[in-house]
Amino acid sequence: MAKQPEIDLDPVDLDLVLAEYNETYLTCRDLMHAWRVYGYYRGGGWNGATNRLLKCERCGMERTDAWDGIVVRHNYDQPDGYRIEGVRLSKGDVRAEQLRRARTIFDSEEAMRKALKRRKGTGNVRSIHSAGSVRSA
Ligand SMILES: [Zn+2]
Repeated sequence: MAKQPEIDLDPVDLDLVLAEYNETYLTCRDLMHAWRVYGYYRGGGWNGATNRLLKCERCGMERTDAWDGIVVRHNYDQPDGYRIEGVRLSKGDVRAEQLRRARTIFDSEEAMRKALKRRKGTGNVRSIHSAGSVRSA
C-alpha cells in the first residue's frame, strides 16, 4: 500500500507548526512513550495471538500488541492532536523544538544540580524548563 504523501513544509511553516504543538506530545516524540501494561486479553487478536494493552502514562496513547511470547503486531490509538496531519517530524525537528522551549540552560552540570537541589522535591525536567533564575537561553 502506498504511503500518504507528506506535505513539504518550508522551515518557517514547520517552526510555526512546532511552536503550537502540545508539549506532552513533543516530550513523547523526544523520549519515547512511557508505556504501562494494562493487561492481557484474548479475542479480536491476530492469528490467535493474545493481546497486550499498553497505555502511555504521559500522553495517553494506547498500544495493543498482538502477543504470543513475542510481539507479532502493534496497533496504536493516538490521542487527538498527536498526529500533525501531513507532516512527518524528524528526530532533529523534535530535538530542535525541545531546545528552543528550554527557558534555562545552565552554564554547567554542577550549576544545574545545585539549582535543582535548592528546589528539592521539584527536581524534574519541567522545573529545568521553567527555572528562570540562572540564565535564560
Ligand atoms: Zn506518550
